[in-house]
Amino acid sequence: MKIPKAIQNLIEAFERLPGIGPKTAQRLTFYLLHVPQLELDRFAQALENLKKETILCSVCFTIGEEDPCSICSDKQRESRTSWKNRSSK
Ligand SMILES: [Zn+2]
Repeated sequence: MKIPKAIQNLIEAFERLPGIGPKTAQRLTFYLLHVPQLELDRFAQALENLKKETILCSVCFTIGEEDPCSICSDKQRESRTSWKNRSSK
């Protein structure tokens, strides 16, 4: 039986994820075939926005929604000198 290209593509996409082997990739793909289109659209949207709506903070290198992140911009506002004392680990 020839697997439709759309299914094959998704299986291959899942297989590239860490911890997901060919069997799991197939299971996930065939599971998603039974999920309502609206839910799939939301899933696709979440994937699409994952990188678009996040940014790496250039100060603390955590992932947030702005650069610098809200924590770092707070700290910078508080005091411009106190952050230098943080390195005494
Ligand atoms: Zn930060």
